[in-house]
Amino acid sequence: VRELMASLGLTRLAVTAQANVTWLTGFGGSSGAVMVEPDAVTLVSDQRYADDCRAISAAAGLRVALVEQTYDETLAALIQKGDDPVGFEAGHLTVHRQRWLRASLEAAGWPADRLRPTLNLVEAGRIVKDEWEIGRLREAGQLISAVAIGVLADLAAGQREQDVAQALEAGLRRAGFSRPAFDTIVASGPRSALPHGRATDRVLADGDLVVLDFGGVYGGYCVDLTRTAELGILSVEAGRVHAAVAEAQEAAIAAIAPGVPAAEVDRAAREELARHGLADRFVHGTGHGLGLDVHEAPRLGPARPAVHPPLSGTVPLPDVLAAGMVVTVEPGVYIPGWGGIRIEDDLLVTERGAERLTRVPVALGRG
Ligand code: ZN
Ligand code: ZN
Repeated sequence: VRELMASLGLTRLAVTAQANVTWLTGFGGSSGAVMVEPDAVTLVSDQRYADDCRAISAAAGLRVALVEQTYDETLAALIQKGDDPVGFEAGHLTVHRQRWLRASLEAAGWPADRLRPTLNLVEAGRIVKDEWEIGRLREAGQLISAVAIGVLADLAAGQREQDVAQALEAGLRRAGFSRPAFDTIVASGPRSALPHGRATDRVLADGDLVVLDFGGVYGGYCVDLTRTAELGILSVEAGRVHAAVAEAQEAAIAAIAPGVPAAEVDRAAREELARHGLADRFVHGTGHGLGLDVHEAPRLGPARPAVHPPLSGTVPLPDVLAAGMVVTVEPGVYIPGWGGIRIEDDLLVTERGAERLTRVPVALGRG
């Protein structure tokens, strides 16, 4: 991060995005900030986390600043201790907080134009996982797979979508996850055509397609899995669409390798669905990065044209895969009035290709 800061001419950075705070310090509380300087890293948090802060400070040699009044007042005090410009995270600090900081610094005689917007300085470091992070994600992938297998085996007509969501979330907690990574999706029957259909009180019936998409946070790291089941006697049309989605997912996974543009992986999935005449039913990107956030870089989607010259202070995120990235591959087909099918797995990009972190049978039936 300091190297990237140097590339922008910065020696100091105020970090306020929680996932970035966690990645830099190991602090897992709900509120914190970090000041990165040439010879020190200061973790800012409040009295609720005083013990955590002391432990992190002792283990990692970080300084700690405990908030007395407000976080921003503490940040302003740290900023004023030096004369060098300070970068802030433009993607995370609200306009209001930024205005408050500027006004407060100006009032203290510290020229506020030395506060510089930055983007992606820490995110660029997070995109490739280290061995410890990969270990967490591997374990989490195995654990969430077991939860999915258990709930799929019990899936039956008569259950409500909410009951299934509760079973998934209870399974995650029993397996050691600290919380769901997002609102669990259980979308059945015609609702399965909604790519993000949160669980409702709809009762599952024979003949329903049921999309289960759920995620868990394990040791701070997120995994994300989708399977689609059909209740009762399997229909020919669902079998045909399901096979097409499964082939699209296989084609995308086969395309994963270091040096491959992320857009190529998306194209592989899209071409396979086009071969089955389903390209226009695939309405989202093929996948996303996983880590401390459930949606992070890299994005596996069609290449986006740049619409303007890069903003100052912005570090570009790579759009080419590299070993150590962890991504989802989740093609789907959605046909309004009929239903939808999505299959999602988590993959580690390795030197040779891709390693599957999640393993759950993809079959439409539940056996
Ligand atoms: Zn998902
Ligand atoms: Zn996902």
